[in-house]
Amino acid sequence: MHCPFCGAVDTKVIDSRLVSAGNHVRRRRECITCEERFTTYESAELVMPRIIKQDGIREPFNEDKLLAGLTKALEKRPVGIEKIEEAIVRIKANLRSTGEREIQSRDVGEQVMKELRDLDEVAFVRFASVYRSFKDLNEFREEIDRLSKGTSK
Ligand SMILES: [Zn+2]
Repeated sequence: MHCPFCGAVDTKVIDSRLVSAGNHVRRRRECITCEERFTTYESAELVMPRIIKQDGIREPFNEDKLLAGLTKALEKRPVGIEKIEEAIVRIKANLRSTGEREIQSRDVGEQVMKELRDLDEVAFVRFASVYRSFKDLNEFREEIDRLSKGTSK
């Protein structure tokens, strides 16, 4: 790992800890040449299923998109980035555990709804109302009831 400040090859690890339920390692490093400090994250690369969009188009799973969606729903809400990262780790683990090579984008949306429901009710309602485009309030209520019973489909 080259130093991002001066490009030197030699950096030393000064601290190393597991984050996000043990799936990532965060390392604090210090450059031996310029003594600047920086952080690296390490995680095993695991193959994610491809996403089938509503129009049938397939695209690679995009973690940035997932993070953006969650962050948007949680805007100005009292939920820290670590909680969001943990939610993403769980969503990815759930999607992988299906064993499917391709997954409907709506299944990803369901996972996001479940996580948001646990994290923050306001964010959950925000996301659900955009994601589901409910015809009326009753339909929305039914959906919330359904989710709060913890059943999917
Ligand atoms: Zn350096």
